[in-house]
Amino acid sequence: MANAPARRFFCDLAVMGGGLAGLVTALRAAQLGLIVRVFERLPEDRYVCNSRLTGGIFHVALNRIDDPAQTLAERIDAATDGTAHPGLARAISDDAMRLIRWLQDAGIRFICSGAEPYQAYTLAPPALPQFGRQWEGRGGDVMLRTLEAELNRKSGAVKRGYAVHELTERDGCCVGLRGTDQTGEAFFIDARAVVIADGGFQANPAALAEHVSPRPDLLCQRNARASTGDGMRLAREIGAAVTGLHQFYGHVMSRDALTNENLWPYPWADELARSGILVGPDARRFTDEGRGGVDMANAIARQQDPGACVAIFDDAIWQGPGCARALSANPYLVRGGATLHSAHSIAELAARAGLPADALTAEVADHNESLERESSGQRSPPRSTDRYKPWPIRQAPFHALPVVAGITYTMGGIRIDEHARALDETGRPIPGLYATGACTGGLEGGPRTGYVGGLVKCGVTGLRAAEHVAAQAMAEEIP
Ligand SMILES: Cc1cc2nc3c(=O)[nH]c(=O)nc-3n(C[C@H](O)[C@H](O)[C@H](O)COP(=O)(O)OP(=O)(O)OC[C@H]3O[C@@H](n4cnc5c(N)ncnc54)[C@H](O)[C@@H]3O)c2cc1C
Repeated sequence: MANAPARRFFCDLAVMGGGLAGLVTALRAAQLGLIVRVFERLPEDRYVCNSRLTGGIFHVALNRIDDPAQTLAERIDAATDGTAHPGLARAISDDAMRLIRWLQDAGIRFICSGAEPYQAYTLAPPALPQFGRQWEGRGGDVMLRTLEAELNRKSGAVKRGYAVHELTERDGCCVGLRGTDQTGEAFFIDARAVVIADGGFQANPAALAEHVSPRPDLLCQRNARASTGDGMRLAREIGAAVTGLHQFYGHVMSRDALTNENLWPYPWADELARSGILVGPDARRFTDEGRGGVDMANAIARQQDPGACVAIFDDAIWQGPGCARALSANPYLVRGGATLHSAHSIAELAARAGLPADALTAEVADHNESLERESSGQRSPPRSTDRYKPWPIRQAPFHALPVVAGITYTMGGIRIDEHARALDETGRPIPGLYATGACTGGLEGGPRTGYVGGLVKCGVTGLRAAEHVAAQAMAEEIP
């Protein structure tokens, strides 16, 4: 098939995108006897997608993935405020450990990477957080290479340098795809089913401007920049519905991460911002810091000027929560070159950070008083305390860290059901069309930007899509 000009091929299953979602889908389908090809746009042997950069922690809504299914279902419901598609939420909670076992059978190794329960299943070797992107030989890289080797053993293949440009539709069914290889030659695939697994639209500035932020140029691209939403666009062209496009998974990052490659994907500033306060250019709070880093990143992105937000905290926070994790904010932000303003009074700090002194002094005083009176919930905006403890801002030196939102992957996308079938606007599956991984919508999001988990979403939707296609194929063959 390689380098064949304008040729036409058949396979049972054509997969668009060779990240974790695409490879799980393909390998499971090949195990079930289907002829499978993965079409991956990037030409490199170790093409850099989000799955290769991943931190590698398999969790469900930041809970242990081996908790009972009912517990996981409740946690997904709580994280997403009940907005997750019920069938999809149930698929994740029921199949999360089945996915781990299946990956282990395929040769993937896990370790426990930290004291937090949700870190119990982390890809080995762990993606040691270091400055910049140190992915070679780490968990995500090893996982993709292991899955591809297994796929090759089952007579499947990943076709590198093959970009998909169009889906083929006949009588309301998806029956194949079309694209070009890296020489520019066209290829046509007739397929029993197509699976879109192209990883979301986080690297598409126009789509981000439409759905996520008025200033996508002021978001830190905390991702591989490989996913531009092609799959979602193609699916829509043949009638698929999309959902939840305005939220993303990400973190609060130093503003310098926009230009300093040392400062992403780690260290992040979530712990600093959620322990102290997060303010805009008017020195006023604009969001509930207690909802955590993912939610704060979304709130920053939605600001009129997402490049003008600042985290304010004191030295107790800097020496406490600031040191809390691997490649922690303290000392690695400063060591990596991030700007940190420090001063012995709030007014002086405001001057250094370019914020109005009176407003910042009032905001810090309000923060401290509300903690004393235990009335954080009555503030405007409220400050929840159930997940993350707010700290007072009293101990000099005081600090101001200019921040931006780091976008890792978009949470919404092609609307799917529990079998990863793409749905149309009326909720009916489009025959022959499936979507898996970060390009799908319906699971994550909700009023508090509920994060369920990028990796578990890829794996479970991948298994489910492959198994549904195989069952359909068998049903068609047996009269
Ligand atoms: C730094 C970092 C840390 C993370 N840590 C964690 C973690 O600890 N736990 C967790 O659960 N999640 C984590 N995530 C998120 C998780 O890794 C991703 O959600 C997941 O890997 C996405 O997989 P995917 O297969 O959907 O997309 P990807 O891995 O991005 O793969 C999509 C592929 O599609 C290809 N493609 C795009 N367009 C086309 C086209 N037109 N034709 C053909 N191919 C195309 C791309 O080139 C790419 O290779 C992290 C992500 C990052 C970046």
